[in-house]
Amino acid sequence: MGSKAKRSLAAPGSLVELLQQMISFDTVNRVNEGVPFVEGELAAHLEALAEGWGLQTARLPIAQNGSLDQAGFNLLVTHEVDQKFPWLLFDSHLDTVTVEGMTIDPFGALVEDGKIYGRGACDTKGTGACMLWALKSAVEAGGLQANIAILFSVDEEVSRIGVSAFVQHQLASLHWTPSAVIVGEPTTLQMITAHNGTVRWKIETQGRAAHSSDPSQGRSAITDMIKVIGVIEAEYIPKLTAEYPLVGTAQCSINMITGGSLVNVIPEFCTIEVDRRLVPGEDAESILPAVETVLQTLAEENPELNATQQEPHISLALPADGNQVLKARVGTILESFGFSSTAQGAKYGTHASDFAALGIPSLVLGPGDIDQAHRKDEYIALDQLESGMQVYQALMAQPGDYWSDGR
Ligand SMILES: [Zn+2]
Repeated sequence: MGSKAKRSLAAPGSLVELLQQMISFDTVNRVNEGVPFVEGELAAHLEALAEGWGLQTARLPIAQNGSLDQAGFNLLVTHEVDQKFPWLLFDSHLDTVTVEGMTIDPFGALVEDGKIYGRGACDTKGTGACMLWALKSAVEAGGLQANIAILFSVDEEVSRIGVSAFVQHQLASLHWTPSAVIVGEPTTLQMITAHNGTVRWKIETQGRAAHSSDPSQGRSAITDMIKVIGVIEAEYIPKLTAEYPLVGTAQCSINMITGGSLVNVIPEFCTIEVDRRLVPGEDAESILPAVETVLQTLAEENPELNATQQEPHISLALPADGNQVLKARVGTILESFGFSSTAQGAKYGTHASDFAALGIPSLVLGPGDIDQAHRKDEYIALDQLESGMQVYQALMAQPGDYWSDGR
């Protein structure tokens, strides 16, 4: 699939061509199907291009289950001007969501009516193309006062192993720490300075299997789960009141359920999956204990009910503080291109919170409209793409002193 017009591996002659090449690679995230590192070929292509343009590259290996080659690598592209200069890091993920149900050729990269169509055009190969083309252009223009790095990260759409590996292990192996991070996601070039996080986890009820000819011999895990859902929806969700400017209020919903094994067996197991949206300032570690309290009241009324919560998957929220200098600098640049400098919030999550958790000023900024992400006819507007590249290049030309204490 996606083989036509593909990979004349010749270096692209324009930003649009670069994005077309990137779209032509199938990088649909298949981690849930047990296929890791779908980004490999695209990463190798970007690596070759970057080296051809005189940039430095490094493959930052990701270990998974102890094996280094299983999960592949994040690609780091750098341009070090002077050891003494601070580093500005750009991040853009290479994976995309599924192409199922798309009404356009997902890998065709058709240019029509001022738009480029394809899976990832907007989320977020568009931002990645802009970053790389901006760096190439900034180096050609010369006079940089900061060292610049671009992290092409893997697996953002499913389990976020790329960014986790970077902040937990890979960063320590570099001889520098970023003074600020710009995370590329489609924000229509508005700066997102705060966003929500998520805590997602499973709750399982365990019953007792029995033949359905005599249900009294068993205990239905499904019936118990109905009670669990009831108490969460009655006693937990309505009491969520945490709020944060720009992003709204905390949310929680139960969105998956599985249970039972056969129609003639009293179900032994039932599982639900819960999605809890964190606003900045909420403690992710406090969520399951709060739900546990509610489940315990239920267990007191139903001594045989057995409900257990499984380990959560946590994605942090991004608080709006801690990036004042960066925000001001980005705002000035946006205004100079005729865009708004007003900081915005988002209800979705991004890699920015992972960097911010290290105390590094971080925000989300990129061309393209999030409304186009994950859509059946995904595209990015060419004028957004061009502006995105120019804004990134202007940022690269700034001094990289984003920490207010002068680090
Ligand atoms: Zn994205």
